[in-house]
Amino acid sequence: MKIGIDLGGTKTEGILIDSSGRELTRKRINTEKNYQGTMHGIVSLIKEFENDFGDVESIGVGMPGCVSHDSSLVKNANSVWLNGKPLKIDLENTLKRKVILENDANCFALSEAVDGAGKGKSVVFGVIIGTGTGGGIVINQKVIQGRNNIAGEWGHITLPNRTEEEKKFNKKCYCGRDGCIETYLSGPGFSNCYNLRNGTNLNSHDIIKDYPNNAKSKFALEQYVDHLARGLSIVVNVLDPDIIVLGGGMSNINYIYETINNKLKEYVFSDVCHTKVVKNIHGDSGGVRGAAWLS
Ligand SMILES: [Zn+2]
Repeated sequence: MKIGIDLGGTKTEGILIDSSGRELTRKRINTEKNYQGTMHGIVSLIKEFENDFGDVESIGVGMPGCVSHDSSLVKNANSVWLNGKPLKIDLENTLKRKVILENDANCFALSEAVDGAGKGKSVVFGVIIGTGTGGGIVINQKVIQGRNNIAGEWGHITLPNRTEEEKKFNKKCYCGRDGCIETYLSGPGFSNCYNLRNGTNLNSHDIIKDYPNNAKSKFALEQYVDHLARGLSIVVNVLDPDIIVLGGGMSNINYIYETINNKLKEYVFSDVCHTKVVKNIHGDSGGVRGAAWLS
């Protein structure tokens, strides 16, 4: 049996699976927005599962950001109370055993590679398009972290070939750079671009609900897929994965899958593009299942 924990900004979810991936139990609690409270929530879930089901072989935790290879402290987490904290060390000391921590987008990619939409594929690129834009690389069912622990972070590359209009109707990224892919492809990025262009104040759900009857919605979605194809063409040119699996709230837009694969071909440096962009299989459970598969 394996335990996976998905540490989110508002909810912390735990899952217990057997070696075939069958779910034995699951529990979701509120994340306390302070370090000690977050720690306590994770530890209590693990202890509860082990009390009810017995000892487990591994414990994995998916989290925003990552644990720095240099300092062993959390960095880049949008749950900011974790940053600078020795979460891995404290969890291991409290539980008196090994705990594997991994970026949540990497967990999503691992979940889809093991028994999701990327099952049987050697090189899987997992994409999160939700509140932010993240990504993870899994090769032969192992997460690739990279020398700086940022492998797969394609969201903070500048969108290629930006037009003057696309520069104008775009907000600066929280990371301090201009024109990051995240500022076009995340849910808030998509709605910001739309609202700046149209002088509105709509969220992404409102924008797309009238598609295909509303010309502005249709244009926004066509632009969105074009941005996605331009962004992913960088990934294909560099990594050339076997499959790209989309997750996060924006990945539920069916229009994406009707058009993205033809669009991607236009931007990739190849006469053919065998790499397909597909929807995830595990939905919201990708993060917690991937955390359980960590080893
Ligand atoms: Zn950025």
